Amino acid sequence: MVVGAGPGGLAAAMLLSAQGYPVTVVEKQPYAGGRTSGFEIGGFRFDRGPTFLMMPQLLEELFQAAGRSVHDYLSLVPVDPLYRLQFGDVKFEPGMDREKTARQIEQLFPGEAAGYLRYLKEEGDKFDRVSPLLRRPFSRLSDYIKTDIFRALSRLHLTDTVYGRLSRYFKDDRLRSAFAFQAKYLGMSPWECPGTFTILSYIEHAFGLWHPIGGVNRICDAMAKVTEELGGEIRLSCGVSRILTHNGRAIGVELENGEMLEGEHVVLNADFGTAMTKLFKPEQLHKYKPDKLERLRFSCSAYILYLGVRRKVDMPHHTVLFARDYEQNVREMMDGQLSADPSIYVHHPSAIDPTMAPPGKSSLYVLMPVPNLDGETDWSDPEQLDHIRSRVLYRLEQEPELRGLSGDIEIESVVTPLDWEQSFYVYKGAAFNIGHSVSQMMMLRPHNRFQDVQNCWLVGGGTHPGSGLPTILESARISTRLLMEQDRRTGSFSSRASG
Ligand SMILES: Cc1cc2nc3c(=O)[nH]c(=O)nc-3n(C[C@H](O)[C@H](O)[C@H](O)COP(=O)(O)OP(=O)(O)OC[C@H]3O[C@@H](n4cnc5c(N)ncnc54)[C@H](O)[C@@H]3O)c2cc1C
Repeated sequence: MVVGAGPGGLAAAMLLSAQGYPVTVVEKQPYAGGRTSGFEIGGFRFDRGPTFLMMPQLLEELFQAAGRSVHDYLSLVPVDPLYRLQFGDVKFEPGMDREKTARQIEQLFPGEAAGYLRYLKEEGDKFDRVSPLLRRPFSRLSDYIKTDIFRALSRLHLTDTVYGRLSRYFKDDRLRSAFAFQAKYLGMSPWECPGTFTILSYIEHAFGLWHPIGGVNRICDAMAKVTEELGGEIRLSCGVSRILTHNGRAIGVELENGEMLEGEHVVLNADFGTAMTKLFKPEQLHKYKPDKLERLRFSCSAYILYLGVRRKVDMPHHTVLFARDYEQNVREMMDGQLSADPSIYVHHPSAIDPTMAPPGKSSLYVLMPVPNLDGETDWSDPEQLDHIRSRVLYRLEQEPELRGLSGDIEIESVVTPLDWEQSFYVYKGAAFNIGHSVSQMMMLRPHNRFQDVQNCWLVGGGTHPGSGLPTILESARISTRLLMEQDRRTGSFSSRASG
C-alpha cells in the first residue's frame, strides 16, 4: 500500500511492483504526480512545481531496476545554458561548456575564472565522497561508522554554510549568489544552509539540467504507467483519512469514504507534516507527535503565477531575476516577511518545448520564494493578493522582454502558501518540506524506516536524503530496499514475490 502518488510514492510503487509485490497506490487528488504534476488551461501547459530535472542518470537507473528504459517513456532534452542569472543589467548564462563558461565569467567578473575552475575540481571531489551517503539509509548510530562517512567527513562542511564555502572560490557577491541560490531548492537560505549543499550547484554544472518534453510532470506519468504495466493499481480521488496500526505496526489504511484497505506494509508519501498531524492519532506516535513536530524547522514556501501569454516571449528556459540586495531579500523571507525587493524565478518552457503553449504563444511560470504560513502575510486577504500580484508583474515588466506583459495575459492561475496547505495538503504551506539544517539531516531527519510505526516506510521529500527530485527518487530506492530486506529476513518476501 502506497499513500500518495507523488514522485516518491510512484518510484516506490514502480520498484515494488517490479519485484512482484501487489501494490495499490491511493492518491487523494484526481491526478497523479503531487507537487510534480502538470495541468493545462486553454492549450497552455504548466508544471505545478519542479521545472527541471537534475541527474537524469538516477531516473535511468530507477527505470532499469523496474526492467524498463526511461527513454521509451520520456524524451529528455538538455537545458543549455543552464539558466540566465540576472543581476541588474548583468546577465550571466553558465552552460555545460566549461571553457565557454570560464570565458564568460572572466568577461563579466574579471579575475574570477580561476575560482570557477577550482570550484569545479574541489566540489567534484566533494561530490564523489558525499554522494554515496545520499544513497543509503541513516537509521541507526552504526550507520555513522561506515567507511564512506569517514571518506566524506572532511568534505561535509557541516560547520560552514553554502555561502561561506562559495566565498572561498569567488570574490564577487553576484558570483557567489550564482552558485549559492540553489539552497532555495531546499527552501533554505544560502547563509544558513549547511556547506554540504554546495554540491547542488556542482550537480547542475557537472551533469546539466534536463527538460522532459511535456514538462517535468511527465516523469510521474511515466512512473505511473510502468507501475500499472507491472500490475500495480493506482486509485485516484482516494484520500486516506488514517493509517491503521496494531501493536505499533502498520496494518493498512482507512479511506475518507470509510473503506478499510489492509496492507502488510504502508509506504507513506503524503507530506510529512500533514501525515503526522492528520493521518495518525497522537497516541499512535511517539517521536513525531503533533506538539513535537513544532520543533522541526520547515522550508519557505512559493507564490507562483502561471501565465498563458498571447505572444512569443524571447527568454531562455529559465531565468532568475535577483533582488538588488539578495542577502536582505533572503533574510526578510526567513524572518517571515515579504520583501519589497524580491528575487523572482521565471520558467519559460515553451522556449525549448513547443508542446507547452499554443503556436506563437508562451507559457510562463513565475515563482517568488515567500515565507511559509508561519510568516506574517495574510494569504486569504484579496487586497493583499492583488497587491502582491501587481508587484510581481511590475517587476517583470521592467525587463525589456516582458514589457507590456499584463496586457498580454490570456489565462492565469495562482498558487499561494495557503493553497499549498489547503489544496495540496502541504503542512504550513512549506512547499519544500522540512528544512535541511544539520539538525534535520541524515539520521536526524525522519527515517526511511519510520521510527514511530513498524512496517511503515517514508518516501519523498520529508525523509532522508532530502527534498529534490533526485533525492526523492533515492528515498524510494532506500526505503523499498529496507522493506524488501526486512521481508527477506522474516521470510515474507519469497511468498509475496511468488504469490
Ligand atoms: C514550487 C516547487 C518547485 C520545485 N522545483 C523542483 C525542481 O525544479 N527540481 C527538483 O528536483 N525538485 C523540485 N521541487 C521539489 C520536489 O521535487 C517536489 O516537491 C516533489 O513533488 C516532492 O515529491 P514528494 O514525493 O515528496 O511529494 P508530493 O509531490 O507532495 O506527493 C505527495 C502526494 O501525496 C498525496 N497525499 C497527501 N495526503 C494524502 C492522503 N491523505 N491520502 C492520499 N494521498 C495523499 C498528495 O496529493 C500528493 O500527490 C520543487 C517543489 C516545489 C513545491
